[in-house]
Amino acid sequence: MRYIKKSETEPRDLREYKKNCRKASPPLKITYKDMPKDGTRQQLARDQGYLCAYCMRRVSLDPADQLNYLNIEHLDPQNQLTDEAATDFSNLLGVCPGNRSSTENAKKTCDAYRGILEEDQQTMRLNPLDEAQMDTIFYQRNGEIGSTDTELNKELSDKLNLNSEAAYLPQNRETAYSQLVRFLKAKKPIGEWSKPFLQQAWQLFCTPDKTGLYREYVGVYEYWLKHWMKK
Ligand SMILES: [Zn+2]
Repeated sequence: MRYIKKSETEPRDLREYKKNCRKASPPLKITYKDMPKDGTRQQLARDQGYLCAYCMRRVSLDPADQLNYLNIEHLDPQNQLTDEAATDFSNLLGVCPGNRSSTENAKKTCDAYRGILEEDQQTMRLNPLDEAQMDTIFYQRNGEIGSTDTELNKELSDKLNLNSEAAYLPQNRETAYSQLVRFLKAKKPIGEWSKPFLQQAWQLFCTPDKTGLYREYVGVYEYWLKHWMKK
């Protein structure tokens, strides 16, 4: 999980939909079920570099790509919101399908996991739009994700199942870490990783490509490069 700087303006199709509902006579009810979702999906994917807002797996905008198709997630759970509040763009995130069709709960992650919790357990403080919170996130060499904030640390596993080995998330983050270390070591021995050297690696690993895609699990690269730069 990493900080997401989200666009402040609503996607155009959503704005138009709301305007038309209000203009109708009598006015039509604004609901999540009826709102257009294409613009929202596109905007969320762009803002997030085409990564799940929780686990940083690649998400796709192609509905045929069922295993990766971006799902719209309500940060404040939808079942606790009014119809209109559920269409508030500032509360929406793009997430991966989180193995939602799996019969094993251990394999589910992200909102698919949160969705199987009791309704009163679904609320969480964890929020990738909160920069101060995201500064507390760390990754271990073995790929585990954690937070220096005890409550958030618990929520990473209890609400989103982000340390699930059954879903291969720690393993994939460990691979990202190893790949980075291998790349750096191939260029310079460990004691010689100067700040400019690490900044070059940042350009390569932590910036989006021409089409706006970030590398999967980019938070791992960001965390470790920052960590070594501080030394
Ligand atoms: Zn995810």
